[in-house]
This record gives sequence, C-alpha cells and structure tokens, in this order.
Amino acid sequence: MDDSLSFESFFDGARRAAQKAMEDHGRGEFDEFALHAGVAVERLAKAVLVMRNPLYLVEMRNGNADLLLYFGGDLELDAAKVRTVGAKEALGRLRRMGVLQPDAQLDLLIELRNGTAHTSVGDQARTLLPTLAETTTILLTALGTRFEVFWGRWSRAVVTAVDTQLDEIRRDVEIRIDQARHLFEDRFKDLPEGTMAHVRTASEPDVASPEPVVAAMWLDELPTGGFYFHLATVDCPACKGPATARILPSPAHNIPGTADMLHCGLCHLNLTGQDEVKACGIGNPWQHGRTPRLIVTSGIGPHSHTDPEPTES
Ligand SMILES: [Zn+2]
Repeated sequence: MDDSLSFESFFDGARRAAQKAMEDHGRGEFDEFALHAGVAVERLAKAVLVMRNPLYLVEMRNGNADLLLYFGGDLELDAAKVRTVGAKEALGRLRRMGVLQPDAQLDLLIELRNGTAHTSVGDQARTLLPTLAETTTILLTALGTRFEVFWGRWSRAVVTAVDTQLDEIRRDVEIRIDQARHLFEDRFKDLPEGTMAHVRTASEPDVASPEPVVAAMWLDELPTGGFYFHLATVDCPACKGPATARILPSPAHNIPGTADMLHCGLCHLNLTGQDEVKACGIGNPWQHGRTPRLIVTSGIGPHSHTDPEPTES
C-alpha cells in the first residue's frame, strides 16, 4: 500500500496540522485555524481507522471493488486512482464503531473546513478550539498514543482547553498566554542564542517621564470615576518581558487597587477586564517585593463632584 496511506503518514499529518491550528488560533487567524483543525481531525480519524483495519479507509460510493482489494493488499493500483473515505464519513464510521460520540460542534468544524457551512468562518471557528482538543484527546486514547507525542509544546494549552474544572475565562486566558509565549519564541528560533534575552532587557523601561504620553488604548472603557489610573510594569505572564498593567484606584482609598487591562508590547498578549487580568495570575505589583520599574499616573486624580443644583424653571 502507498506510504501516504500508512498509519505514520496520517498521524504525522494530523500532528503537524493540529500544531499549526494552535498557532493560527493564537494569531487570531480563525479561517486558517478551521482549515488546519479540520485536516488534523480528519487525518487522526483516518489513523484510527487504518490502525483498526486498512479496509475501513475504503470509499464505498462508486461500488467498485478495486479499492477494497487494494486496501486489502491484493491489488496494485495507480496512486492517482486511490481514494480514501471523506472526513465526514470517516467520523461517521468512528461513531458507528463507538469510538466517537455525535458532536454538533465537530460537524460544524468539518463543515467550516470544507467550506460548506452557512456562516462566516472566523466567528464560528474561534470557539471551536475545545472541540479540536476534545476530539483529538478521544482519538489519541483510541490509538493508545501519549498526548505529548501528538501535541508537543501545545500539550499544556490543550489540557487546559479540555479541563472542565476551570471556568471559561481562566481556560481562555491560560490558552492565550501559551499561544502568546510560543509565537514570541517562534520569532527568535532562527536568531543567534541570547537574542531573546537581549530583547527582553532592551524592553525594560528605564526613565519614567514626568508627563507621560498615554497611548489611546489605555483610555478605553474606563469605569466611571474619571481618568485616574496607574500604569505599572509587571512581568508578562507569557514572555516574561515587561508588560504594562492598568490599575484602577480602589474606590474607598484611592490607592492602587485592581488591574483591569494588561498589554505586552513584546509578545502582544492583551487582556481586558478585571476577570481576565485576575485569571492570568499577576498580582498587584505594589504588593510584590520590588516596586514596578515604571509607574505612570494618569489623569487629574479623583475629586469629589457635586451635581449642579437643578435650576427652577
Ligand atoms: Zn509578553
């Protein structure tokens, strides 16, 4: 039988596509994610089928027995004539075999990959990462293959994606941290050793400007109470470079309170909202041993404000 129809070939193809899918998702390229995730599931499904029995790969549609004999190992065929079952039917067979359960999200992933879904790919595909993670987990179990062999450096993110003990925000944030870290590391993989450390050091803020220009992004969605906030350096949870966190004064004491935004210019990790920042695990930078390397205080500070007296008319 053709090498491209071997277990190893399906498994390797699935592994490469799955890891690409994680990278696409991290970059926010959800169309590409759907494509690679769909290919990964299809190839891994076929790896399971071929391991159980090469005959399970036979496309039955045209009623020609040549393929049956070919996959059974008793007929030589020109490679161009060899067809295997499609993704949908491969999954259907695994469901009939009791390996997979019906899963509407998985069906959607395959439709997005085939371009037959009636929705825009990006919006739908973004939420399908847990589907990829869960399906591959089931198929790897069926193969008896270790998770790490398939997922490599993405293992932790994928374990997180299927961890139902974590709440949704925590899961999402942890995966995004892993994605930002890997994409950051990828930028340095062909550069001389030490470049990454050098870039991290060079990014450290050294001078606190007395009249800082605050980038517009930090003025987004400030809670009511005015434009008063601190920006402080924190260790980026993804790349360990200096990230910036926006910290709002705690309402009662006007002291630095809760962080509600985090942005890293090095790895582009971006977290918004108190829940996301809390989930990433950085604490209040003032409560650590060392003070933040840069603190910017913006705005005119909190002041009491009385509503104008209603005018009699
Ligand atoms: Zn970072």
